[in-house]
Amino acid sequence: MKKLILSILLVSCSLGVFAQDIDYARKVVKTLASPAFKGRGYAEKGDQIASAFIAGEFKKSGLLPLNGNSYFQDFDLSVNTFPGEVEVELNGKKLRAGADYLVEASSPPVQGRFQVITVDRALLNSVEKVLDLVEKAKDAFILLNDQANPSEEGPEEKKMISQAIEALKYDENLKFKGLIVCTSDKLTWTTLSFQTIRPVIVVNKKGLDPKSIQNITLNIDSRFIPKYTTRNVVGMLKGTSGSDSTLVISAHFDHLGLMGNKVYFPGANDNASGTAMLLSFVKEYARQPPKYNTVFLAFSGEEIGLLGSKAFVEHPLTDLKKIKFLVNFDLAGTGEEGIKVVNGSIFKAQFDRLTKLNQLDHLLPKVEIRGAACISDHCRFYEKGVPSFFIYTQGGIKAYHDIYDRPETLPLTEFSHYFQLMQRFFAGF
Ligand SMILES: [Zn+2]
Repeated sequence: MKKLILSILLVSCSLGVFAQDIDYARKVVKTLASPAFKGRGYAEKGDQIASAFIAGEFKKSGLLPLNGNSYFQDFDLSVNTFPGEVEVELNGKKLRAGADYLVEASSPPVQGRFQVITVDRALLNSVEKVLDLVEKAKDAFILLNDQANPSEEGPEEKKMISQAIEALKYDENLKFKGLIVCTSDKLTWTTLSFQTIRPVIVVNKKGLDPKSIQNITLNIDSRFIPKYTTRNVVGMLKGTSGSDSTLVISAHFDHLGLMGNKVYFPGANDNASGTAMLLSFVKEYARQPPKYNTVFLAFSGEEIGLLGSKAFVEHPLTDLKKIKFLVNFDLAGTGEEGIKVVNGSIFKAQFDRLTKLNQLDHLLPKVEIRGAACISDHCRFYEKGVPSFFIYTQGGIKAYHDIYDRPETLPLTEFSHYFQLMQRFFAGF
């Protein structure tokens, strides 16, 4: 009986910890992905608001600042932003920003009504035809009906056409007003460090008859900032072993910011979720100090080219040679199909250990291996010889780099199991 009571107590106790962890993670995701954080980009200082919040969490847990007496590491980047109006009408009908269209991240500001010349993708298969088209479009927009059976194109033709599209987007020698790309693909936004000569509007083809489009009305306020100072958030906890070896937990907190003053990209999965994972470890290790010194790096500037992690390895605030292992969390919010481990095949012994830990307690449905891929912040460290994984969850909601990556629909299905697995993994060093 005593034993039974004890085990009931233990169960309810661990349930208590479990419930608190996931509630905290949800709160972090909800906060970071809320409108007040402006999509954690550079318009309206979304990055500053987010980094201040994270530093506040570091402080609450008693982390040591890693940069002298500061939790921040400043660095500069160039960025094209959309802080003001962004409005698009086709034939006088207003489109919904983010849902019906995206303004390509490099677009310059543009105001006015312009004539539209519609062409099928297939027309772009010769240089003469493209030049002829541009000549005709001098004061007009070209609308490219992008999906005219690309499957029928041979490899040469396909290459020619995609080169022509690149030229229509970016070639400064071609003089016409702008490009509209009409597509059936999912609308996926990005953020870019340059501004191009003419606007490119990507329009969702659904419910649209491209041939009927005669004019476009634009009111797009974009501002290029050649030097914007953003910041990483950096802190550490001393380990109990007295060793000077370090474990590093990283996640980028930045996202795509604003596309006009009415639309923001919440980035709940990318990467409020990974930041929530990092902060969950901050909290846990503050409560129960780890064996090794643990450095926490929350990066800015990831989406624009892994720039926060680049700045860090160029000015490291911890000895890179003393890092036993780094785990970078990016896209931590689903997990219905388990996780994928970038660099798993490079650091195979650690990958095998992770897989075994997972099998032991049936934590995640799958732990899949992947080779090297320079697609998140771990890469900058890996290039400097730091043993590292980048892990992302798989399955569940497919929202990515769009207005639908919202906290309300991010399940955090396997978050607790994921946290427990990684906790065991870190403890094994
Ligand atoms: Zn990301």
